[in-house]
Amino acid sequence: MTKHPEEQLSAYLDDELTPDERREIEAHLETCASCQALLEDLAGNNDDLVQTFSLIEAPFDLEARVMQSIGAEEKRQFACNGRIVALLLGLLTLGLFYLLTGAIIGKLIHGWSKLVVTLIYASSHFILSVPALTGGTIVLSLFILVASFVSLKRLLRTSAS
Ligand SMILES: [Zn+2]
Repeated sequence: MTKHPEEQLSAYLDDELTPDERREIEAHLETCASCQALLEDLAGNNDDLVQTFSLIEAPFDLEARVMQSIGAEEKRQFACNGRIVALLLGLLTLGLFYLLTGAIIGKLIHGWSKLVVTLIYASSHFILSVPALTGGTIVLSLFILVASFVSLKRLLRTSAS
């Protein structure tokens, strides 16, 4: 190769040459100091380019940091809105408490009715446990039974005639 392959050097650096072209360039570079210098220059330029890209990347990082600080600002705003949120949560809690209390009141009423039934049951037991009261209750029960029997008989008679 007599001609300096200057135009191919950047392609050589970017690894864009065929293996044959590469070998030719490498063979030329071994013998040509000026092309070696040019290659080093180009390599230096490539490094500069890499550095430039890394410098371009810095603003990206900056942007990320700006976004982060915006996020922090939003968080601060959220903290300010926190009172409203807390108020809403408080109202929600009160609402839930009201609902739960309502359920508890319902349970209490249910429990109370059970208690009343138990009291009636207990009082009936108490009546049965006292002979005088038992006698009275039996007499009363018999009276009610007879009265209802009589009234039933009367009802049947009136409906028959
Ligand atoms: Zn050369």
